[in-house]
Amino acid sequence: MRDPNCIFCKIAAKELPAVIIYEDESHLAFLDIHPANPGHTLVIPKEHYPDFLTTPEELSCGTYSVVKKIVLAILSGVGATDFNLGMNNGPSAGQVIMHSHVHVIPRFAHDGHVMWHGADYAEGEMQAVGERIRAKLTA
Ligand code: AMP
Ligand code: ZN
Repeated sequence: MRDPNCIFCKIAAKELPAVIIYEDESHLAFLDIHPANPGHTLVIPKEHYPDFLTTPEELSCGTYSVVKKIVLAILSGVGATDFNLGMNNGPSAGQVIMHSHVHVIPRFAHDGHVMWHGADYAEGEMQAVGERIRAKLTA
């Protein structure tokens, strides 16, 4: 299954160039063209699924197995010890390419990146939000 208009499908089919660092029958890992830091890598299933929720669970598990396999090589390749794993799902979460992918981002002390700013809950709000989510899980 592929989407003819999808950049990552084209990279998986070798129709567009990429600096590929890992490949197996179901996955590809290649360097992000606009890295947060050198070595910033994208891990994709070769099949086209738009995001985490639409990707079959077994395939997603495989994606994280690939991440586990390559992350130490990425870190030692660029001289980092710390990293973020990230997956943007939907435009409000920053997803631009609608082909499921996991970001592996090497991190360096004082590299200037901020993931998000924490806020405070109002009085009682934290318990109420927790209750609303728990109710959905048990429904
Ligand atoms: P996202 O915002 O999670 O959808 O991330 C998409 C990522 O894909 C961005 O970090 C882009 O820099 C990266 N990207 C877009 N086009 C290419 C490409 N041709 N090769 C490598 N990375 C790309
Ligand atoms: Zn695709």
